[in-house]
Amino acid sequence: MEVPEPLTNLKIQYTKIFINNEWHNSVSGKKFPVINPATEEKICDVEEGDKEDVDKAVKAARQAFQLGSPWRTMDASERGQLLNKLADLMERDRLLLATMEALNAGKIFANAYLMDLRLSANIIRYYASWTDKIQGRTIPIDGKFFTYTRHEPIGVCGQILPWNFPLVVTVVKMAPALCCGNTVVIKPAEQTPLTILYLASLIKEAGFPPGVVNIVPGYGPTAGAAISSHMDIDKVSFTGSTEVGLLIKQAAGKSNLKRVTLELGGKSPCIVFADADLDSAVETAHQGLFFHQGQCCIAASRLFVEESIYDEFVRKSVERAKKYTLGNPLKPGILQGPQIDKEQYNKILDLIESGKKEGAKLECGGGPWGDKGFFIQPTVFSNVTDGMRIAKEEIFGPVQQIMKFKTIDEVIKRANNTHYGLSGAVFTKDLDKALTVSSALQVGTVWVNCYGVNSCQAPFGGFKMSGNGREMGENGLHEYIEVKTVTIKVSEKNS
Ligand code: NAP
Ligand code: MG
Repeated sequence: MEVPEPLTNLKIQYTKIFINNEWHNSVSGKKFPVINPATEEKICDVEEGDKEDVDKAVKAARQAFQLGSPWRTMDASERGQLLNKLADLMERDRLLLATMEALNAGKIFANAYLMDLRLSANIIRYYASWTDKIQGRTIPIDGKFFTYTRHEPIGVCGQILPWNFPLVVTVVKMAPALCCGNTVVIKPAEQTPLTILYLASLIKEAGFPPGVVNIVPGYGPTAGAAISSHMDIDKVSFTGSTEVGLLIKQAAGKSNLKRVTLELGGKSPCIVFADADLDSAVETAHQGLFFHQGQCCIAASRLFVEESIYDEFVRKSVERAKKYTLGNPLKPGILQGPQIDKEQYNKILDLIESGKKEGAKLECGGGPWGDKGFFIQPTVFSNVTDGMRIAKEEIFGPVQQIMKFKTIDEVIKRANNTHYGLSGAVFTKDLDKALTVSSALQVGTVWVNCYGVNSCQAPFGGFKMSGNGREMGENGLHEYIEVKTVTIKVSEKNS
């Protein structure tokens, strides 16, 4: 597909809180700045939501969920039509949304256009087609009874978002929630509210009833915590750090035991056996780590390479990492953009320094780039050992760790020696090895001879401290459904 030029006259129209299909100022009167990470310049100010604004949004969402409301009485197939209309509108405004995503989230424009926008529309259409296929069962229980189950929406769902894939993660949560008939209150990450507020305008244009979708931009400890501890929110879904994931689950436990879905961090093992297609493994492992400046929960950030090909693998990986042109992600030819903000930038630089101090070999990169914007040189470390911070902590930056292994048993043990369990990969031509490793890895997704292949039809989520629950695919629906069992006494029963 051909990629057009990004818009040059982008205007930011939507900067307010979206409740009941209307735009609101914050109750406190406060606003917060949204920054372009490539230039460190302010793009605009956005209304800063806090507890009172979340309360207003929850009231609207609750009202929209009342029995007899337009949303509750709507045919399931019509919910599907509304979702499809939303996908149509996103496609109509694809250029605008991709430009805005690149500007606000520091995404390479072509990636935003080709990947984020396409995947977002696909996810919405996938769930649009599920709306009228969510079915209960009739169940032959013992005794003279007729029993059936209803799959009902849960109610008001809070959704707290990260900044790395603003649109994609919004629709990953919102589309299945709406598909099942829930209403939502969404908090975008403080860094990246712009495309999500634009999406709000499309939700109104598509014709969703007021209060079905509400969007409250603001900070985590205020607006985010108001959602996770709210007594009238029935479910919360969160994507972000494991650290905050723990807080969300605690808040749910301390308030109303709302249901919780978590998609958290990772330190994904990528295992390359000597019999693998070397060039393909080097390139795929490289993309698996460096895509979107390393800011992916699934980043291939523990790369284990079999001893006999280790030196050559490192040499080729370094050659590959040196091929980058850094700069403003809206400009043509730029292959690496900025990290999202100063905090992440400092965290990554600190981890790079720890790698140097703890004795890893710095093969290339290793510091900041340019004089403005949050850019970091593509960095490769070899001779990394399992105890080093760069081998244990989630870096979320363009920093590749290459480790050496000798045997399959050893590498499986080392790969699983982490509290994370999001994803992993194995590169080999030997089917037996591929199957052994894929069964042994304690992770939610395993890729064999590929990496980062995610699609709306397949479930995604983490084992261990990488999360609870699954998103996407049919499994993603289960997170937004309550199963009700109805049993009716009958006078006679026949098989
Ligand atoms: P984060 O703090 O976990 O933020 C994710 C979301 O949670 C944001 O909307 C954030 O609000 C909100 N939040 C923060 N504290 C909260 C609280 N007490 N209660 C409710 N919500 C709260 O992640 P981050 O600061 O952006 O990044 C830190 C690290 O998280 C990264 O280095 C990376 O390791 C990991 N991360 C993982 C993913 C992923 O895809 N799994 C995505 C992003 C980051 P604010 O707007 O105030 O931040
Ligand atoms: Mg944060």
